[in-house]
Amino acid sequence: MYTVERNEIINTIKDMFIDSAYNLNNKLVNKFERAEKLETNKLGKSILRKIIENQVIAKTENIPLCQDTGVAVIFLEIGRQLIFSYDLEKAINTGVRKAYMDGYLRKSIVQHPLNRINTLDNTPAIIHYNYIPGKNLNIHIAPKGGGSENMSRLKMLSPSEGEEGIINFVLETIKLAGGKACPPLIVGVGIGGNFEKVALLAKQAIFRKINDSSKSLIDRNLEEKLLKKINQLDIGPMGLGGLTTALAVKVNSYPCHIASLPVAVNLQCHSARKKEVTLVGKKINNSN
Ligand code: SF4
Repeated sequence: MYTVERNEIINTIKDMFIDSAYNLNNKLVNKFERAEKLETNKLGKSILRKIIENQVIAKTENIPLCQDTGVAVIFLEIGRQLIFSYDLEKAINTGVRKAYMDGYLRKSIVQHPLNRINTLDNTPAIIHYNYIPGKNLNIHIAPKGGGSENMSRLKMLSPSEGEEGIINFVLETIKLAGGKACPPLIVGVGIGGNFEKVALLAKQAIFRKINDSSKSLIDRNLEEKLLKKINQLDIGPMGLGGLTTALAVKVNSYPCHIASLPVAVNLQCHSARKKEVTLVGKKINNSN
């Protein structure tokens, strides 16, 4: 059997959150640069330039890209040959705590939705667990901003509403969000599953690589159609008009009940921070 040491997990999580708060992925920056060239709206173009300049300042001066440094969302893929002699969830939350304290990132989590008392260290994180073959631990993290999360939506459609119903719901969601979700967006769309599964599909969709396309032909066609239609809405960068409302649309689907057509839209703002790291499990000495 194999394991990953507690301190390695804590330090990795800490570094990932601090790094993601300061550094936007280069491929995403390339997308902004391309969008700036294509944008015909003067104000939209200048906002895209500001977004590009902002990420350079964040990177060079080690300051957060945005004042909202988000809720810590983590997807773990745990190799089946790994065992942990400590509380994995506690170790992860310790890493998140250190990131937000040592990195001077804004603490945005409250203990209870109604008492609104800040936990003062941005914990607890929202952690999803999956098992994979092997001995590695894959960690995917995203500090998810509140503005774009607040404008995300879910609806249980009737199957007869079909693709048209999905498209209408996604477009309605983007229009309702306007500038509040801080576009240009990455739009995560979940279709199928059930009530809780479809929300997770939409969240997983925004964790996909910025330039990938779905392996499913149906989902890929929907991604292309949606991106075109969203960018015809003239919402534009920060909702002030233009061609660049979304940089990408990602559709993730799952089988569902004959009576259901769940759809969820998870919006990711232009501060699309995420990281992934693989930790290799070390062999446990069983000689004792
Ligand atoms: S939605 Fe994104 S860009 Fe807007 S304030 Fe929140 S984290 Fe920042």
